[in-house]
Amino acid sequence: MELKETSYQIQGVDLLDVANEYGSPVYVYDADKIVKQYKRLTGAFKDVDLKIKYACKALTNINILKLLRSEGCGLDTVSIQEVKLGLEAGYEPHEILYTPNGVSIDEIKKAVEIGVQINIDNISILEQFGDAYGSSVPVCIRLNPHIMAGGHSHISVGHIDSKFGISIHQVPHVLRVVKNYDIKVNGLHMHTGSDILDPEVFIIGADLLFNAAREFKDLEFMDFGSGFKVGYRQGDVTTDIEALGKRITERFQTFCEDYGRALQLWFEPGKFLVSESGYFLVRANVIKQTTSTVFVGVDSGQNHLLRPKLYDAYHQITNLSNPNGTKRIYSVVGYICETDTLGYDRQLNEVREGDILAMHNAGAYAMSMSSNYNSRYRPAEVLIHKGKAHLIRKRETFDDLIRNQVSIEI
Ligand SMILES: *Cc1c(COP(=O)(O)O)cnc(C)c1O
Repeated sequence: MELKETSYQIQGVDLLDVANEYGSPVYVYDADKIVKQYKRLTGAFKDVDLKIKYACKALTNINILKLLRSEGCGLDTVSIQEVKLGLEAGYEPHEILYTPNGVSIDEIKKAVEIGVQINIDNISILEQFGDAYGSSVPVCIRLNPHIMAGGHSHISVGHIDSKFGISIHQVPHVLRVVKNYDIKVNGLHMHTGSDILDPEVFIIGADLLFNAAREFKDLEFMDFGSGFKVGYRQGDVTTDIEALGKRITERFQTFCEDYGRALQLWFEPGKFLVSESGYFLVRANVIKQTTSTVFVGVDSGQNHLLRPKLYDAYHQITNLSNPNGTKRIYSVVGYICETDTLGYDRQLNEVREGDILAMHNAGAYAMSMSSNYNSRYRPAEVLIHKGKAHLIRKRETFDDLIRNQVSIEI
């Protein structure tokens, strides 16, 4: 994935112009890429009744939500606040799936009032839900098939110690609760983690879910979660969506025949839809030659891009403003008073103080995981849509830092 000079243009908009106009650091998203990913997924599953629910915790700007809705996409939310953002962006409650973990029954009741599809992953909550609503509010149940999936232990959520979902081994107990409270289960769900490479993992999970599904008579959909792996570096192997589509479609159709009814098939990708659409533009503040390394210190850090620190994630870096410079080896580090390496031992076109660097794959879990640590402002966000750059979030100011602080007599 060696980027050529022309790749610095997104829909004809030069990323350097965006940095000049809106300043740095700045997140820039390519609307076309998001739509392309959405269409790739729906294309791979065209022979089933497919619904995509965008897992919006990846990137919650309401314009991204609006963009995906305009393509027919639904929403997967993990908090009542995300539900509200969805409504703000124009989603109908029934288009929103609410998949919280570890929240109180009170928050779930608020979501019921709004009218979104509830997904429950805890037997205690299921009992309280049944007690409150009986069969009057249908509910989806999140099962944990205990598949080890995903490249990194922090993003693998299907294993036996995981806090997510109700163990597939507890299905008999779930069935008793469902019967006792006369609960209407309209969906079954699994989400085993991120960065799943092997279609086999989805297939094994799907088979376990199909097996459990025979016991539930009111199903309208099955939700296979997410975890599609996207490319981060040159030559990365990614989930073969088309192959996965073929194999899941076959199995799903067979299952529906056995079950006696055609169900909807749901997925809830986050990363797959938005990761590659994003570029995080930073400026080289200082070059620092030490005895062992040349550091590039940029005007950002773990406060704006946490993934390298949190998950050892790799984000490709490109020097936008010196594309023909001689290649040299650098460590790109942030300005936070922590060791916040953004890229270790990278071969970049010579970086000079003032150069603009692009960090790739900054669409997912970049802005949405950002903080004000070191009392830095969160960056602006820009969406390139229909060949034009649009500011979709203003850069923070000092007012944002002190807005909620209460000064008392000291
Ligand atoms: C985070 C999350 C997703 C999205 O995961 P990606 O790896 O970004 O695709 C999907 N479903 C649930 C329940 C999640 O918590």
